Amino acid sequence: MVKIRICPKCKSASIREESTRGMNFIAGIQPLYICKKCGYTGAIFPEIDEKELYNIKNEKD
Ligand SMILES: [Zn+2]
Repeated sequence: MVKIRICPKCKSASIREESTRGMNFIAGIQPLYICKKCGYTGAIFPEIDEKELYNIKNEKD
């Protein structure tokens, strides 16, 4: 089953992962995710099944 990370705000699957590697952060820091659609940024973006995303989109429209 395919898992997709989605934006908790707008439910968009267009997510960009901002890697903190190579930056002056302490080791073990979580990567940041940025929603390409609404610009929401955070470390916690829920991972859902591809099928579930389909259901969410159907509900919305
Ligand atoms: Zn979003």
